[in-house]
Amino acid sequence: MAEGPMKTHGAGTLRGDDAGTEVMLAGWVNRRRDHGGVIFIDLRDSTGLVQVVLNPEDAPADEETLHGLRLEYCVSLTGTVRDRPEGTVNPDLPTGKVEVVASSLVVLSPSEPLPFQLDDRIDIDEALRLEYRYLDLRRATMSDNLVARSRAIAAMRRVMDEQGFLDVETPTLIASTPEGARDMLVPSRLRKGSFYALPQSPQLFKQLLMIAGVERYYQVARCYRDEDTRADRQLEFTQLDFEGSFWGQEEVLATLEQIASRVTATLRDFEPPLPFPRLTWHEAMSRYGTDKPDIRFGMEIKDLGAAFAASEFKAFSDVLEAGGTIRGINAGALGASRSKLDALVARAQELGAKGLVWLVVEDDGSLRSPVVKFLADAEQQSLKEGLEATAGDVLLIVADEQKTALEVLGRLRLDLGQPDDHDELAYLFVVDFPVFERNDDGDWVPLHHPFTAPVDVDQMRQDPGHALSKAYDLVVNGSELGSGSVRIHDPDVQAQVFDILGISTEDATERFGWFLEALRYGTPPHAGFAIGIDRFVAILQDTPNIREVIPFPKTQSGADPLTGSPSPVEEEQLRDLGIDIRDEVRAEWAAAETPGD
Ligand code: ASP
Repeated sequence: MAEGPMKTHGAGTLRGDDAGTEVMLAGWVNRRRDHGGVIFIDLRDSTGLVQVVLNPEDAPADEETLHGLRLEYCVSLTGTVRDRPEGTVNPDLPTGKVEVVASSLVVLSPSEPLPFQLDDRIDIDEALRLEYRYLDLRRATMSDNLVARSRAIAAMRRVMDEQGFLDVETPTLIASTPEGARDMLVPSRLRKGSFYALPQSPQLFKQLLMIAGVERYYQVARCYRDEDTRADRQLEFTQLDFEGSFWGQEEVLATLEQIASRVTATLRDFEPPLPFPRLTWHEAMSRYGTDKPDIRFGMEIKDLGAAFAASEFKAFSDVLEAGGTIRGINAGALGASRSKLDALVARAQELGAKGLVWLVVEDDGSLRSPVVKFLADAEQQSLKEGLEATAGDVLLIVADEQKTALEVLGRLRLDLGQPDDHDELAYLFVVDFPVFERNDDGDWVPLHHPFTAPVDVDQMRQDPGHALSKAYDLVVNGSELGSGSVRIHDPDVQAQVFDILGISTEDATERFGWFLEALRYGTPPHAGFAIGIDRFVAILQDTPNIREVIPFPKTQSGADPLTGSPSPVEEEQLRDLGIDIRDEVRAEWAAAETPGD
């Protein structure tokens, strides 16, 4: 075939108006019907598909070629668009009114028989899909996801560009940054025994850019965290990262509203109402038991401490005496069979509660529950009032330590609550996070990251556990889309935070001395944010799994079945890097079928 453009039109773009037009098309055989006479194929390209008629009498190609066409053969053809005959119009297909009668067809590349059918209606094992991702991506849902991702990122870039943000790249071979996860390390050949870390985020570089005088920065940045992967986590992920100087929380949140509404309008055709509601971290925790509440439905957690302050029911009074709390939700008319209620108790215990008290409101307003005999009339009355109970409702109560009670009810709320409108996107900001929390060893760790400004430095020193920070999250439908904060721009405050975190001055100097020094050169006040693009697109595409919107993701165990990564390397490469694989690891390889498994 002569060199030159192989198509005049996209297959999916042809409409009734094109009838009579001669077209050149190229793409893949998506479907074929060959009854020995006229052959019909659906030709697919990146714009969609169109029906093509191959009539051997028109001799578009020799008979062998025509009858030899198989699924996913890559072909080019010329032909004429015509209206489909009466009764054969397909209203479900954008090109369904027309078909192309081919006058010539060439097979550009034949295809092996496929390892799985490229049909969106068939459930295919994910490992197989990932092994043949290039075929999987030919499926309509997957190519829609790629398009959506591209459009979302383009919309984000447009907002950033319009608002004067500069797109600046930052390195991916860096010194470790303390974002709280394990670093991915890359050994250096030139300095054997030394390692680069891949960035957990561009955090410190974007702060350096503020010091450098870039007043508005953004980047679509790849980030790496060596954590166990979950459905909504990957070892590498993409953020829209941004930062600005001489501004604070209000400006960052306003920018986020612009980004979120533009992306929503692009992928979902509606604009979410502005401004987004805000909850403080404390409100979110006490009303929803989580810092990323789904506010599409109520079922809020209520403090029932006052109702049971003088209770003689030991399960309640003991907890209150020990400094615990009594909280409850009105789970609504669940259809409260005994087995369902027992299952809820088991679920609460599995989530870490010592128990769960349930009460069903009968038609006459009385309460049915194994514990009702222990509750005074007045207690029952204030319980019903506190939870706004009406006939048929199921009331669920957890008496426990505050953290457990809130967490368990927060999870039960998510199990039981249903949004009225599944398509709704309920954005909100969570603000006023604590600066620190205790880790399992009882040490202070930052709730966000150690570069986040405290609201009150003196208070932070005196009472780290109650100090609030200038950190904020963007949440939608129970998922955290990203976090950010006003940063510390005073090196002394930064040193104090390291100190509370138990990082000694020597240690801080050794690890971040370069950053503490940079802060000493006229650092402007600055603040920023990062949105997790994978999760954002997954939510807008209504798929629970971020792997569906990542072109080439890793499996849950961090492997890529397509390219076989991670994989062992040549002995020589290891020698160059000065790396020895320990004998016990080699022994493990020998025991496993494939090295690295
Ligand atoms: N670097 C932070 C993160 O990756 C985001 C930020 O504070 O801007 O979560």
